[in-house]
Amino acid sequence: MSGTTLDDYTDRYAARIHGMAQSEIRALFAVASRPEVVSLAGGNPDTSALSMPELSEMFTRLLTDHGPQAMLYCPGQGDTRLREEICEVMAITGIGADAGVSPDDVVITAGAQQGLSLLATVFLDPGDIVLAEGPTYVGALGVFQAAQAQVRHVAMDEGGLIPAALEEALAECEKPPKFLYTVPTYQNPTGVTLSEERRLAVLDICRRHDLLIVEDDPYGMLSFDAEQPLPLRARERDGVFYLGTFSKTFAAGLRVGWVLAPPAVRDKLVLASEAQILCPSALTQAAVTQYLTTMPWRQQVKVFCTLYQERRDTMLASLADTMPADMTWTEPGGGLFVWANLPAGLDSKAMLPQALAERVAYVPGTGFYADGSGRGQMRLNFSFPSSERIREGVRRLAGVIDSAARL
Ligand code: PMP
Repeated sequence: MSGTTLDDYTDRYAARIHGMAQSEIRALFAVASRPEVVSLAGGNPDTSALSMPELSEMFTRLLTDHGPQAMLYCPGQGDTRLREEICEVMAITGIGADAGVSPDDVVITAGAQQGLSLLATVFLDPGDIVLAEGPTYVGALGVFQAAQAQVRHVAMDEGGLIPAALEEALAECEKPPKFLYTVPTYQNPTGVTLSEERRLAVLDICRRHDLLIVEDDPYGMLSFDAEQPLPLRARERDGVFYLGTFSKTFAAGLRVGWVLAPPAVRDKLVLASEAQILCPSALTQAAVTQYLTTMPWRQQVKVFCTLYQERRDTMLASLADTMPADMTWTEPGGGLFVWANLPAGLDSKAMLPQALAERVAYVPGTGFYADGSGRGQMRLNFSFPSSERIREGVRRLAGVIDSAARL
């Protein structure tokens, strides 16, 4: 084997790996996690708001009562008891029995991320078209790129995906897209929520064009001021595949999520999951079941919401106090993120080294587009840093923007 190239294995890789680039977010982690840097770049919930003594007791009870079972393999579709509990959780969000939901239609996954990956395995061939909001969730872009699909972005504004832009994107497709991927509620990265009127319009367009929808809903329960909007899946049974997760309402480290899909698709998803991981972790599924059935989990979600709402308020107030008049940003009603539009001519990617030198990190907007757009935008996280750190981080960022604007 030649030792002259940086990567001696290049010629041997599968074609799909060449389209896979390290996400801008992961590349940032090493610098952003230094203690002197205020990171507004992350996407983590604040798990310090969980009571570790109570969880410790819960895990002890779990191992005492169900230890041997929790240490085994389980069915590929996931544990029946947890699938029943997940139906109760979905019913709270409006996806209940009248939406035709049954535990049989739930497939447990290693987070919503594996759910996305399973849907890609089941639906996407190389060259297939996927429609997605522009900007969209970076992890979804990674999955679609790995599947060698083409992502076509659909424009959005403060009211979410623009129905007319969806019609236009459909008209421009040279073949029918496989599905529309959407995060309609407190979207990552913008924090924006699809309005009620547009939910109906988007469903109508998708029905007329026979376009399937992948609805990714990790943030719906993290509502601050407003009622959680009704998920698309609550109104449409066969045309929407719904992704859920416990990553933001309980703990991302457990890696438990789910897909809700019609029986035929569910069967394919289970086959794909068995091929990937045999079965989801019995231990973490048992932990989530124990948590949902024995702990005040709804109260805990309220604790997260109160904490994040306070931090969102701090971030919005700090932005208003420090940023130039020609900068704008979203005002999310829930979730973890604010999306900011820089003054004309500034480039968030080019500005990042300076920001890191000034000990503040953010994610440049380019990470959330498949086509290199987003240089004028950035994503700011408010769920993880304390209010004090948010204030300091935004102050530092304002200084960086001010210097860049003078160049
Ligand atoms: N979808 C979206 C929109 C997300 O923001 C995230 C996590 N950041 C995921 C899916 C993946 O979540 P999980 O931890 O459940 O895999």
